[in-house]
Amino acid sequence: MESLRVLELYSGIGGMHYALKESGIHAEVVAAIDINTTANEIYTHNYPDTPLWNKTIEGITLEDFNKLSFDMILMSPPCQPFTRIGLQGDINDPRSKSFLYILDLLPRLCRLPRYILLENVKGFETSAARDRLVKTLTECGYTFQEVMVSPTSVGIPNSRLRYFLIAKISTENLSIQSSKILDAFPHPAEQPKVLSPSADTCQPEEEVQEGHVLYKLETKTDAQRKMSQNNDLSLRLIQDFLEPQIDMELYLLPPKTLLRYALLLDIVRPTCRRSVCFTKGYGRYVEGTGSVMQGCVETEMESVFTGLDQCAEDEKLQRLLKLKLRYFTPREVANLMGFPQSFTFPKKTTTKQQYRVLGNSLNVVVVARLLQVLLS
Ligand code: SAH
Repeated sequence: MESLRVLELYSGIGGMHYALKESGIHAEVVAAIDINTTANEIYTHNYPDTPLWNKTIEGITLEDFNKLSFDMILMSPPCQPFTRIGLQGDINDPRSKSFLYILDLLPRLCRLPRYILLENVKGFETSAARDRLVKTLTECGYTFQEVMVSPTSVGIPNSRLRYFLIAKISTENLSIQSSKILDAFPHPAEQPKVLSPSADTCQPEEEVQEGHVLYKLETKTDAQRKMSQNNDLSLRLIQDFLEPQIDMELYLLPPKTLLRYALLLDIVRPTCRRSVCFTKGYGRYVEGTGSVMQGCVETEMESVFTGLDQCAEDEKLQRLLKLKLRYFTPREVANLMGFPQSFTFPKKTTTKQQYRVLGNSLNVVVVARLLQVLLS
């Protein structure tokens, strides 16, 4: 079979390229395009032979795109215009400009690519940008499917709910087709499971036992959800994703952070089957940026957190230090995001830069599965 010519837009550290490799599809990335210098250095370090264009997408002409003669577009447009915490500027946000440019360009290409895969954050599905995308694809004669999935659906103990759209030019039918957004992997043999408005609020199956200390600022429902995730044997253990040996001192949460944010941390142990989404602020900000690891599992959580808020600062710190709370290393975050061992960072990148680019990237295994569906 001839190799597919792939255009990777907003290529970052190459999550899409790794997914393409992981999918087993015979393909070649003919150009990767991004403007982030750090991400580009990491991309080139790992894929020295892939042409990487350090240019803004909207600065590239139709003629230049035509010359690439690609069969597939893989893209993760900037997500800030669509995030709930952002201002939701949507198509009016200047960061949407390049995406609108692509939509404008697509119908004018000499040859339409046979396949398109787009990744974005939860929130994109209700945006005007999504409506424009769907309109353009329909007018160009594509069939497409939208899916919202998290790595937990491929057995990876990490939440990262994302919107995906896979599209195929209509001369070939998609193996699955539903006008609704799916919330599970589309499989030709299975009835599509349709996302209902409540699907995001996972229903806990187990009761939190009496006397269980809600030691953090978590509700009973949070605690129940975590417990049922930890008991879900379809998910692998966190320990499978940890580095065998690390210099723990480098990753310990500093005392100041412990004292200020202890109650807001999402703490996991190696025997857990869950972790929260790692974002680009991991290692710099604590709240909502990703889980932290309990380095000393012998310490009982309850002994640390019960009555913690009544303790004097000194005792508070002494107690918290016993847990040896640490950040996941960038390698461990990469593992949870499905990056293979062959993926490495250039020596000169700092840990913070590494967290940042990983936080912007995607789960490789999830995208690989979607690519397999797209080409099936
Ligand atoms: N999928 C990528 C990450 C995408 S994040 C990965 O695996 O790492 C979005 C990326 O789009 C960022 O790296 C950002 O630098 C890039 N970007 C944003 N606006 C751009 C533009 N106008 N032209 C080119 N790249 C852009």
